[in-house]
Amino acid sequence: MLSIKDLRANVGDKEILKGLSLEVKAGEVHAIMGPNGSGKSTLGHVLAGRENYEATAGSVDFDGKNLLDMDIEERSREGLFLAFQYPVEIPGVSNMEFLKTAVDAVREHRGMEPIDSVQFMKLAREKCKAVNLDDQFLKRGVNEGFSGGEKKRNELMQMMLLEPKLCIMDETDSGLDIDALQVVAEGVNAMRSEDRAIVLVTHYQRLLDYIKPDFVHVLSGGKIIKSGDRSLALELEEKGYGWITKEVA
Ligand code: ADP
Ligand code: MG
Ligand code: MG
Repeated sequence: MLSIKDLRANVGDKEILKGLSLEVKAGEVHAIMGPNGSGKSTLGHVLAGRENYEATAGSVDFDGKNLLDMDIEERSREGLFLAFQYPVEIPGVSNMEFLKTAVDAVREHRGMEPIDSVQFMKLAREKCKAVNLDDQFLKRGVNEGFSGGEKKRNELMQMMLLEPKLCIMDETDSGLDIDALQVVAEGVNAMRSEDRAIVLVTHYQRLLDYIKPDFVHVLSGGKIIKSGDRSLALELEEKGYGWITKEVA
């Protein structure tokens, strides 16, 4: 589904990703861990096609297509979803309008008519309930004045409505108390399916107690320096990152 080969990328004029390779297949959940400043969020932004994040070498293949050739909207229409560490606020646009526009764009791409408003309202309320958000929330501005937990739940709801092929989540656990973490984890687990892949960026192994990944990768200095199964995350929690850097050197 996602094949990244020797990817190099700059933020401004500084090279941050330095030959990163990663293969993600449908049905898999991958966790990416690594020290602060290693390039985890940069990877997310490059995959999202964000301005100022420029791929300079290597390739990213998404479901058989060159991802780096697509603009942000195309990536989303093709089924890529990125939940960010700091989701944007869009004052003046209600959550409901925002979500319906996003869902209709994906439907159009799949050759479907826009979703009926009443039907969408019903669906959106259902998803709110699934992530423990009051449905009044749908009338509020996009991310306007949301708490950290609400933002995360909102992202998850978007993900549930858009049914993307590939979900990339950055610091899914930051700003969440234990109860919110469990709600988000349950939501992510409910999204697991044979035809969808999930990539979670996380600092702490704690999240991986709730969302059990098939693979764990360590990103350090702009590339993946070690990959393993879930036991690697436990080892990292116990020993930190220093031993891997030494092992690789
Ligand atoms: P991580 O998410 O692993 O903590 P980041 O991808 O956020 O790491 O950052 C990787 C490196 O890129 C850091 O050295 C950071 O200072 C730098 N960086 C990130 N964003 C920018 C930016 N917008 N401008 C300049 N440098 C940046
Ligand atoms: Mg960081
Ligand atoms: Mg980060």
